[in-house]
Amino acid sequence: MSHPHPELSAPTELPEGALRVIPLGGLGEVGRNMTAFEYAGRLLIVDCGVLFPEDQQPGVDLILPDWSAIRDRLDAVEALVLTHGHEDHIGATPYLLRERADIPLVGSKLTLALLRSKLREHRLRETVHHEVKEGDRLAFGPFDLEFVAVNHSIPDALAVAIRTGAGLVLHTGDFKMDQLPLDGRITDLRAFARLGEEGVDLFLTDSTNAEVPGFTTAEKKITPAIEQVFRESQQRIIVACFASHVHRVQQILDAAVKHGRKVGYVGRSMVRNMQIASELGYLHVPEEVIVDAKELADLPPERQVLISTGSQGEPMSALSRIANGTHNFVQIEHGDTVLLASSLIPGNENAVYRVINGLVRLGANVVHKGNALVHVSGHASAGELLYCYNIVRPRNVMPVHGEIRHLLANGDLARAVGIERVVTVEDGVVVDLVDGVARVAGKVECGYVFVDGTSVGDITESELKDRRILGEEGFISVIVVVDSVSGKVSAGPEIHARGHAWDEGAFDEVRQPIVDAVNRAVAEGATDTYQLQQAVRRTIGRWVSDTHRRRPMIIPVVIEA
Ligand SMILES: [Zn+2]
Ligand SMILES: [Zn+2]
Repeated sequence: MSHPHPELSAPTELPEGALRVIPLGGLGEVGRNMTAFEYAGRLLIVDCGVLFPEDQQPGVDLILPDWSAIRDRLDAVEALVLTHGHEDHIGATPYLLRERADIPLVGSKLTLALLRSKLREHRLRETVHHEVKEGDRLAFGPFDLEFVAVNHSIPDALAVAIRTGAGLVLHTGDFKMDQLPLDGRITDLRAFARLGEEGVDLFLTDSTNAEVPGFTTAEKKITPAIEQVFRESQQRIIVACFASHVHRVQQILDAAVKHGRKVGYVGRSMVRNMQIASELGYLHVPEEVIVDAKELADLPPERQVLISTGSQGEPMSALSRIANGTHNFVQIEHGDTVLLASSLIPGNENAVYRVINGLVRLGANVVHKGNALVHVSGHASAGELLYCYNIVRPRNVMPVHGEIRHLLANGDLARAVGIERVVTVEDGVVVDLVDGVARVAGKVECGYVFVDGTSVGDITESELKDRRILGEEGFISVIVVVDSVSGKVSAGPEIHARGHAWDEGAFDEVRQPIVDAVNRAVAEGATDTYQLQQAVRRTIGRWVSDTHRRRPMIIPVVIEA
């Protein structure tokens, strides 16, 4: 997050007829993608996603892009274009809309459907939506937009071509070039070529896999590994994958039907997203294959499949709770098979291996990326990027979406095919396109914006450092069971503390305040366990701080039963 260009100062005034590109997130990390384009005093934003915190950022729920550089000009925003429905592209939208509620939102049918359900969760009202599809051309102020189909690990992803008086910009969004995708919707290289013929002045390309040689393996290539799991498993199968990976779920549904099994979804986002995807026709659900996950247990184990969230080892996810034996209705039986059909996002390794170890300890057979071909990436590898550069022949290239090593590797690929003007920058470094030439114009403030519960941007890097130090003093876990019908606390709080010499009974006086806080949150309309956990966290956190002058890490667990 630190600026790699200490020598740069604020950008000078944008020359007339020029286009400014302001990366507000996603350049220097995989996540929180957001880019603002400025032309003739007006702004266009492409994507508004979140970054998930790592172990060194205790207590942080999410990290947002930093749009402080355009905060006082949000009225000039003509539209927010969302290239696809992944969290690292849409997840921060509710936070942006809190600052200006009526920004027109532009995206494909599935992208907008996923976004709408997110806005509902944040209790934000419906805003102006423009549903677009590949081939559509639509102007917002001085920005003339054209949408191009791209293939990615979620259906209905789009690249966007942006025409202004300064020239033609093509932003790929996230993409790969699977030639045999499950839905037959390939990246439209013919459109890329046509735009190239017209003359692409600036090409922003997905850098995630620029270091990976060759071509990303086709999704269909993982079918045999899935097939083998279904053929050999004598008992229940539990599959964990991203809750947005509609095609991966489709493969599992198809295998389940073929092998006479029924499927239940576990995890809120999985249930919600797959319902949206099947209602809109992106997921084809064979008749009667889906049953309620709780009712699935009535079938013999060899007829059960569970599709679950938690493939990244997220501590609160369904799979983590299954792995540590605390899930409310799924218990691993000896001989069950768990299939982790997902990538391993850097930073999540420890958490994922913890989950795998928990599962094998309980007697499960775990099939994962490390021992079978059960996942392929959603991003173009170096070979595909080279193809794109040769097809588009852009005048200038600006690598996006990746850590600095990915961005630099992507820039090298562009140079390798003879493109001379490559501008490789990180968040906050402003690039101007003037008379067909892209160059760095200065920098704007662009840090990490941390979300902790309901507070946005209140936590600073130095406070996080405090938390890391205090975290070494110990942590407290609080487990509360809430009756799913009445919403009242039915058991607990059970409080465990580690790493600090707490007395026996030290927590007796805070038990009732925790119960009161949860009951009060329910009475005030809190609906999900996350909000209740925050209530628990706040109550015990304040008490520990006031009475013991300590700020240990607090892990609240609210279980609905
Ligand atoms: Zn994506
Ligand atoms: Zn992405």
